[in-house]
Amino acid sequence: MSFLEINLKKLTHNYKSIRSLLEPGVKMIGVVKANAYGSAIDVIANKLVSLGIDALAVAYTNEGIALRRAGIQIPVIVFYPQVHNFKKVIEQQLEPALYSKRSWLEFIRIVKETQNSNYPIHIKYNTGLNRIGFNPIDIDWIIAELKHSPIQLKSIYSHLGASEATRPDQKTDSQIDLFEEIISKHQKNAKEKIDFHLLNTSGIFNYPNYHLDWVRTGIGLYGFANQFDWNKKLKPIATLKTTITQIHKISKGMTVGYNCGWTASNDTQIAVIPLGHADGIARHYGHGKGWVLINGKKAPMVGNICMDMTMVEIGQINCKEGSEVIVFGTKGRADDLAEDSGTISYELLSGLSSRISRKVVE
Ligand SMILES: *Cc1c(COP(=O)(O)O)cnc(C)c1O
Repeated sequence: MSFLEINLKKLTHNYKSIRSLLEPGVKMIGVVKANAYGSAIDVIANKLVSLGIDALAVAYTNEGIALRRAGIQIPVIVFYPQVHNFKKVIEQQLEPALYSKRSWLEFIRIVKETQNSNYPIHIKYNTGLNRIGFNPIDIDWIIAELKHSPIQLKSIYSHLGASEATRPDQKTDSQIDLFEEIISKHQKNAKEKIDFHLLNTSGIFNYPNYHLDWVRTGIGLYGFANQFDWNKKLKPIATLKTTITQIHKISKGMTVGYNCGWTASNDTQIAVIPLGHADGIARHYGHGKGWVLINGKKAPMVGNICMDMTMVEIGQINCKEGSEVIVFGTKGRADDLAEDSGTISYELLSGLSSRISRKVVE
């Protein structure tokens, strides 16, 4: 049986470790989108609240609704709320990021229609990632709108395209310069101090001078920061464990798996693991990409990953049917496993399906 063990002591460690990088007064947004990066959103969110996180953030409105259902009462920011969900955003008292004239006008219309006032929102600018955000040339329009709209401006933010790239990075520097212009123009046109933020986890490590008023940390809470030196400050919170379903002796020349995906070049043994692409072990694994740890030793994934099962070559590793298998954890890290098949920790973690049970360790 397979389960993802989630260690809350390590979450606490990561929270405190990231907090220790921030000046006092800088607020932390804990990003819990995609089931808290594939872990367990309810448990993680409640733990972060008890640790003192200042706000939580999700990608989509239904994730924010799930947080309210889990009893979360602190501010919940929705990064990509989608216009057709704005009524639900308000019903659940979620805080949307508004990112375009269309999203702005529609949200204001619904705030008025539902007779709300002073409704908390965030403004997102596109400073070069070209994903989501107002074009900075709309700044005068936004400043004018802010003067007569029934909203409370909680923050203004942007997002870097390569926060983990070695400094100096020209593209990042130009994003920072542009955001600084946005900051100063908004602040000049406001009566009160506005809160600004720019950085995700890697950015927090890489740009200590730009923590501004808030930081948004996701992957860091789960133990990864996209660079070896930064990773040392964090502990992966999740361990994916399973057990060997069956072992086969394979003679030289025999094939393993669908489409004869792998041919043994020597007499060997394979173990069958009860996790497949339906569980989130995608088909870019296999064919020697990716491994699991059995008895502390690496057993490479061979052939094509099946929907429910994966075959690994165990050779002479000391193990038997029913032995424990670590797919990733503290040793055999998820980021290394992901990179071995050309992807990143984010994709591996967030892709773990609901079929894998989650086991929380306090
Ligand atoms: C997901 C996300 C984050 C968190 O990024 P990490 O690299 O996981 O820390 C921050 N900001 C925005 C806008 C995001 O979409």
